[in-house]
Amino acid sequence: MKCRKIHIIGGGVSGLALGIKLQQIGVDSLISEAGTYPRHRVCGEFLSGKGIQLLHLLGLYDPFMTEGAVLAHTIKCYTSESESPILPLNEPALCLSRYSMDEIMASRYRALGGELKLKQRCPMRLHTRETGTVFATGRLPNLKRETALLGYKWHVENLTLEADLEMHFTPLGYVGLCRVEHNKVNICGLTKVKGTSMNIKKEWRHFLNQNLHHRRREAVMNSEIVTTSVCFTSGLSYPITTPRIADGAIQIGDLGACIPPLTGNGMSMAMESAMMSAQILKSYHEGSTNWQNAVFTIQRQSQKHFRRRLICANPMHHLLMSSRLHGLRRWLVEHLPYYHQPLFSLTR
Ligand SMILES: Cc1cc2nc3c(=O)[nH]c(=O)nc-3n(C[C@H](O)[C@H](O)[C@H](O)COP(=O)(O)OP(=O)(O)OC[C@H]3O[C@@H](n4cnc5c(N)ncnc54)[C@H](O)[C@@H]3O)c2cc1C
Repeated sequence: MKCRKIHIIGGGVSGLALGIKLQQIGVDSLISEAGTYPRHRVCGEFLSGKGIQLLHLLGLYDPFMTEGAVLAHTIKCYTSESESPILPLNEPALCLSRYSMDEIMASRYRALGGELKLKQRCPMRLHTRETGTVFATGRLPNLKRETALLGYKWHVENLTLEADLEMHFTPLGYVGLCRVEHNKVNICGLTKVKGTSMNIKKEWRHFLNQNLHHRRREAVMNSEIVTTSVCFTSGLSYPITTPRIADGAIQIGDLGACIPPLTGNGMSMAMESAMMSAQILKSYHEGSTNWQNAVFTIQRQSQKHFRRRLICANPMHHLLMSSRLHGLRRWLVEHLPYYHQPLFSLTR
């Protein structure tokens, strides 16, 4: 029996989930990661949908809870002058900082015998026939500056939330607040690029003032920012046009299928795509399928599996990001009880 090692480029949620799964089913793997752990990343840190069940299969649920992950059960939405009631989520979401999450996943991968090389930025040869290589390098940037969005994240202390997840919508974008470990609150959002990230860094209180419901401003302004957690990412756009992968590269996570952050489902999709790929990669590893078949099968399964979620989430994102549709945004927030549960299901 031929045994071929799998090389995973990128050690974020999808790359680490794939590495862990491969090690669990006896497939040798190597992960090359450009950065190190632990580190803060721009993310709402709100894991919802199928991803939570996958945590059990990957042996991550208990370590996440031990680290202090918080289960979120309720949501409340706001525009600057309207608000929804507090509503139950269809199923609980798990909130844990990426600072802790990625490090726990990396430790689990290593404990299962996986090889992890840090500070290794690999070339992105997406169109070569590099057999045995899986790209898990995250979303591709939008290079059109006029349509690109800015993502930001930081933690604050001493803030009480009105629901486990607060979502605030403005003509500039949206911002979500949820509690993570050690009683901190994650503040994460997307905004149309106005000024530079440096402005938001310096004037974050003023920036939030413009992006929150008036009744919530004071509490957030009085919270204490954890300065080491502040991070930004630019060049975001949704939908992302997925590059062709038929020429031989397997792409998982955001690189394969990227959903707008509004849904809080990106990390789940990253894990799901990893789990879907693992069994096919095992067949390749054992020599019972060739690389081209593996690429083709993973691509087809992924398109089918995520289609509905992307079809629902992308127009919703545009509707909520539109500067002109403020009245509609307000109406959507006020009528949330009538549609939030079906919408939640359709985007998961
Ligand atoms: C503003 C914002 C808020 C979000 N909020 C949420 C949320 O609340 N809930 C949710 O589920 N999802 C959320 N997401 C989406 C979520 O962060 C992603 O879906 C998820 O991180 C995708 O995982 P990934 O493994 O594909 O990519 P990543 O987690 O980004 O990992 C990619 C990894 O590849 C590495 N890398 C890149 N290039 C190379 C290279 N050439 N060589 C080696 N390594 C490389 C990077 O260093 C990185 O570690 C949010 C996204 C944004 C932008």
